[in-house]
Amino acid sequence: MSRLVIVSNRVAMPNEHRAGGLAVAMRAALKEHGGMWFGWSGKRTKDASGTLHTTENGNTTYCTMDLSVEDFDHYYNGFANRTLWPLLHFRLDLVDYRRDTQDGYRRVNALFAEKLAAQLREDDIVWVHDYHMIPLAQRLRELGVGNRIGFFLHVPMPSSDLLAALPNHEVLFSSLASYDLVGFQTERDLDRFQSYVRLYIGGKAFSDGRMRTADGREFRAAVFPISIDTEHIARQAKAASTRASVQRLRESLGARVLTIGVDRLDYSKGLPDRFRAFEHFLDRYPDLHGQITYLQLAPVSRSEVPEYQALRRELEGLAGHINGRHASPDWTPLRYVNRDFSHGVLTGFYRSADIGLVTPLRDGMNLVAKEFVASQDPETPGVLVLSRFAGAAAEMKEALIVNPYDLDGVADALAQAHAMPATERKERWNALLKRLRRYDITLWRHKFLEALSG
Ligand code: ADP
Repeated sequence: MSRLVIVSNRVAMPNEHRAGGLAVAMRAALKEHGGMWFGWSGKRTKDASGTLHTTENGNTTYCTMDLSVEDFDHYYNGFANRTLWPLLHFRLDLVDYRRDTQDGYRRVNALFAEKLAAQLREDDIVWVHDYHMIPLAQRLRELGVGNRIGFFLHVPMPSSDLLAALPNHEVLFSSLASYDLVGFQTERDLDRFQSYVRLYIGGKAFSDGRMRTADGREFRAAVFPISIDTEHIARQAKAASTRASVQRLRESLGARVLTIGVDRLDYSKGLPDRFRAFEHFLDRYPDLHGQITYLQLAPVSRSEVPEYQALRRELEGLAGHINGRHASPDWTPLRYVNRDFSHGVLTGFYRSADIGLVTPLRDGMNLVAKEFVASQDPETPGVLVLSRFAGAAAEMKEALIVNPYDLDGVADALAQAHAMPATERKERWNALLKRLRRYDITLWRHKFLEALSG
């Protein structure tokens, strides 16, 4: 069997216990095939980029590269997170394009390619993850690497006219043709990429998933919706009810219904709109005052990026405003918490909730929606309220699907979830869970790797 080489910006080292679902899945894939995980070391150095560190663990090598302060700033904080992230999440208004950060992004990708190429064996299969690494395969090909290389885009692929607003977009996005296989989260993402290839780089997209660029390079594109470790999360959630922090949450609620939101503090998650929708709910349903508590967990993320600092201030203002207007001495309608929790505790929180509120303005998939469903108690499952703009909505039809821009619509969905009879809750939840059981993260990685090797 060929070795597997995973490439991603962050590498979850074997001693990192708080690794997320994707990291655990990648470790499992590496264990199955043997191989290497390659990416940034997490270190920013004063010296030039490029120092490598390797750690062996069983049949897996972890190989990471340091980046200089300036390279990291241009590549990660700059082009990846201030240019590509907003662009790929349909937020042209937030795109900050600069030639120097674009150059930094290219430079760092070229350096990753150079260091990686030196580590590759002839029959290794290479799987590259996400928007930080789009040009990696092209650079590897220039260095003579002929291995199979696949790419999976975890974030959305926006409409072609939006992509084309990026200066030099053709250079960046046509480089995807250097992969053998490009994977997307949903059919819509694949459609939009195919349109882009036709309209803006003069290529062809065939109905069997083959694509061809104007200069004749053929590659394949397909859909692989990412999922979660459903059984593991269900078990974790069940076990979590004995944890002190979960019990304290429950006791603090009394007989109140708990609505939960769990998101990185990111503008793609639609948190200000969600807070306003909750305020609409409080305005429109005064009878329910005192009966419902909305807990929003929002760990701070990318705090070096100015747009994220502004978002944080906005949410603090909104949370204060909503509670100031609606709270009573014995009831706080909105609990807003910027902390991280262990996954075990988080699943216990999900299970304690009656309503899961997941309303991103755009999301590649949204794993929180899936984790919420997997964590529920089969006897008293909660209701998922889900944005139609999350990739997850394509599969999770039995959720209450909302448009996050329609604040009254979200408010009504909350009221509908609150009033939903137990039989309907169970029916909807059973259908959602059945799909998650069948299509979990293990099947996801198998399908991708099968398609890449085949
Ligand atoms: P994104 O990848 O954009 O952050 P997803 O919903 O796909 O969004 O994945 C988020 C992941 O982060 C989930 O696995 C979720 O459990 C985890 N997470 C989010 N908030 C917290 C928190 N407060 N504590 C711990 N984990 C969190």
